[in-house]
Amino acid sequence: MFKKPRGTRDFSSEEMQKRRYVEDTIRKTFQNFGYQEIQTPTFENLELFTMKSGEEIIEEIYSFEDKGGRKLALRPELTAPVIRFYVEKLQMEAKPLKLFYIGNCYRYDRPQKGRYREFTQAGCELIGTKTPEALAELIAMAYFMLKKTGLKNINLYIGDLTLLSTIFQKFNLSKKQQEYVRPLIDKEKWGELKDALSDFELNDNEIDDFIEIIQTSDLEKIRKKIQEENSAKKQLEKLIKIKRILVENFQITNSEIKMSIVRGLDYYTGTVFEIEAPVLGAEKQLCGGGTYQLIELFGGKETPTSGFAVGFDRTIVALEEEEKDFPTSKLDFFVIPVNNQVLDEATEIAQKLRFNNYSVDIDLKRRNMGKALKYADSKNAKKTIIVGPEELEKQSVTIKDMETGEQKMVKISKIIDKLKK
Ligand code: AMP
Repeated sequence: MFKKPRGTRDFSSEEMQKRRYVEDTIRKTFQNFGYQEIQTPTFENLELFTMKSGEEIIEEIYSFEDKGGRKLALRPELTAPVIRFYVEKLQMEAKPLKLFYIGNCYRYDRPQKGRYREFTQAGCELIGTKTPEALAELIAMAYFMLKKTGLKNINLYIGDLTLLSTIFQKFNLSKKQQEYVRPLIDKEKWGELKDALSDFELNDNEIDDFIEIIQTSDLEKIRKKIQEENSAKKQLEKLIKIKRILVENFQITNSEIKMSIVRGLDYYTGTVFEIEAPVLGAEKQLCGGGTYQLIELFGGKETPTSGFAVGFDRTIVALEEEEKDFPTSKLDFFVIPVNNQVLDEATEIAQKLRFNNYSVDIDLKRRNMGKALKYADSKNAKKTIIVGPEELEKQSVTIKDMETGEQKMVKISKIIDKLKK
């Protein structure tokens, strides 16, 4: 017997209903904010992903050579592909350009709950602006999107990589040392961070000071630390503006400043943000994004870019953990021909209803009434239509409500009109 590959999943029809519900909610929210959907290939040239992140990323992705000897990779994320598409084809479009996607991604991760080798990301790229109102709108959209799916408990954190770099410089950390501490900060491994800082010859006071500033959400403390650094001061002002817009214009009052957001990928630059669902435990990050630079690296004309990606699968796990009551789709009608002589009429009735956008199934096994009704019930049919010779003589059928058991005769020519009432 065959088994599915490690880290992949099959989805039953019940699971697909949940996935489609979340997908529809996400797609509608993007469209609500004026974003337009695009699609890129599932595999790309490997270099697209190694160019910025280096050869190390090969360890974490599915890469292969095709029969023509081309080095390819299954996409681990969609920002690089979307920017490649933009540089190739979309540079002349009016700005800002608001693009969104929903697509499968592949990573050679260690599978666990909320972490898969094949998963779906829903994300967007905002190209051509980096005003505080643009960033605030982007962050608000991510937040609303997750709220609209029905999630009750999510936390929004906003940080800034320019401020973080300035803090690193204040403590005289070299580029190499910065690279070393970033993942420790990201994973909130404070003990290991202390050891590393001590190895870098910071004294105890400096270490405490460093950890305090990284952990603080107090903007005054950050302001004091970065004092005379002009670019950092500007970014801090921007952060304050974004937070104000989120509160005053979008009524999002529970965002928190967090300096320890470092983001995994190497191309982020300024404002960054993350949304977490605490209910998920270890793999609690639902969404990550911010401002980044990739266009120039891919040979395009410089223009500001920001975006985010929502972990679609984790959103569903979080909703399940919160015991969300997902809407289920029911079959509108199940048509039962009473005998083989009325099969043609039964098919015609089913087809008439289908043309009018009802979901309709019909007994295709020539079952007796009892068995057919049982099957209709197992398929969650709201109503059954019983087509029998006596009713047909009166150009009618019997419609049975499967919930109440109520039955009534209805003229075939009037079915659609009756249903519309
Ligand atoms: P990233 O591109 O790493 O910033 O990831 C964006 C989002 O995708 C994360 O916040 C997760 O929710 C989701 N994600 C990343 N890796 C995986 C994975 N292996 N399985 C499921 N979801 C993932």
